[in-house]
Amino acid sequence: MRPRCAARRGFCSHLWYATGVEKLDTARLLRFDRTHIWHPYASMVDPLPAYPVDRARGVRLTLHDGTELIDGMSSWWTAIHGYRHPTLDRALAGQAERMAHVMFGGLTHGPAVELARRLLELVPAELDKVFFCDSGSVAVEVAIKMALQYVRATGREGKQKLITFRRGYHGDTFAAMSVCDPVNGMHHLFGGLVFQQHFAETPSCGFTDPWRDEYADDLRRVFAEHAHDSAAAIVEPIVQGAGGMRFYHPRYLTELRALCDQHDVLLIFDEIATGFGRTGELFAAHHAGVVPDILCVGKALTGGYLSLAATLSTARVASGICQNGGVFMHGPTFMANPLACAVAEASLGLLSNGQWRGQVRDIEKVLGEELLPCAAFAGVADVRVLGAIGVIEFCDPLDMGRVQQFLVDRGVWLRPFGKLLYTMPPYIVDEADLRQITAAMRGIAEHGAG
Ligand code: PLP
Repeated sequence: MRPRCAARRGFCSHLWYATGVEKLDTARLLRFDRTHIWHPYASMVDPLPAYPVDRARGVRLTLHDGTELIDGMSSWWTAIHGYRHPTLDRALAGQAERMAHVMFGGLTHGPAVELARRLLELVPAELDKVFFCDSGSVAVEVAIKMALQYVRATGREGKQKLITFRRGYHGDTFAAMSVCDPVNGMHHLFGGLVFQQHFAETPSCGFTDPWRDEYADDLRRVFAEHAHDSAAAIVEPIVQGAGGMRFYHPRYLTELRALCDQHDVLLIFDEIATGFGRTGELFAAHHAGVVPDILCVGKALTGGYLSLAATLSTARVASGICQNGGVFMHGPTFMANPLACAVAEASLGLLSNGQWRGQVRDIEKVLGEELLPCAAFAGVADVRVLGAIGVIEFCDPLDMGRVQQFLVDRGVWLRPFGKLLYTMPPYIVDEADLRQITAAMRGIAEHGAG
């Protein structure tokens, strides 16, 4: 392929294919980025500013101009041990010296096996089959496919739909989108192309609110009406994340398990956001003591180093799919990438000393002290804290650009969305840094970003 002349982009000396390319200065880098590179959920015509990061260590991101920001986002909830953790750096470098990647069809390797062993030690014994995949959304696709293949292989072809709560978020691919909230999700953009699923009302009983039996009525109604054509129910246990950062009562999960059993519906837990300690338990399902048939994990799995996810299932699901010579029909090119597996195994190793539990408890305490009083400010609709998650929900949508600049001016990195300003910091954040994050959040709650 003939390279296009970079002169048309205004910097002929920086041909993209050249070796020894001179690095762009920051202004040019940002101009190129703005002109040519999509960012998540962004306009390519009129994008908001992107801040150029040069490096990251511990809980700090360093921008090109040397500005240091305390990261309250853990890079979309992944970097639980902070950046450049020596153990994770070593695991990655060590694996790179052996092999970066080999196909997983017909081959296997130590990093995948060691990681699967670690994972299986952490989850309930019933879940003992692991499918590695590339990202959270793909893990959800895989879970849905597993459920659909299972019901077909076991002679219940009529069960093709999924049951879920409103206000959920499960990813951006098509099957995952179909179980995201039908109003706030992306259904409206894709009209009739998104599969129609069955939605129960979003859980209205908060995590610590007193439980009343009628809270599960709508869930019961949905099962009564639709279980006959449903293969599985899929939910984010306890925390509905990107769909609204809401925390719900563990009893919903117990009810859900019972309904699934009663109506011959598989139960899928999407712990992509909540897994690996974020809510104060290793997995959010532990708050309810409920075991799903299929479990999705991702995000913090590699400690934020590389994209990797996994879909775990029970032996019953696996043997259902594989009876009569059946195979599970999924196989990504980069399945079980050894670099990602090695760093994930090291990250789970760090979790295994149990220190995360005290760290998350300490974070929860500070978040509670600092954020809960914000509920008194005009313009704040609600404040919620659970584990290492602190959320301020405003009455009106936030001006993302202005809020982001306000936070950066205070040395803090957070990414608000809609009416929500929230933090999910690395577990290693110390108290002073955490209080700097919460002070910036309080500043917005008290004065706005103006
Ligand atoms: N499921 C949940 C609960 C999530 O929070 C996310 C991402 O935020 C996903 C799935 C999708 O994961 P990914 O962005 O890795 O595709």
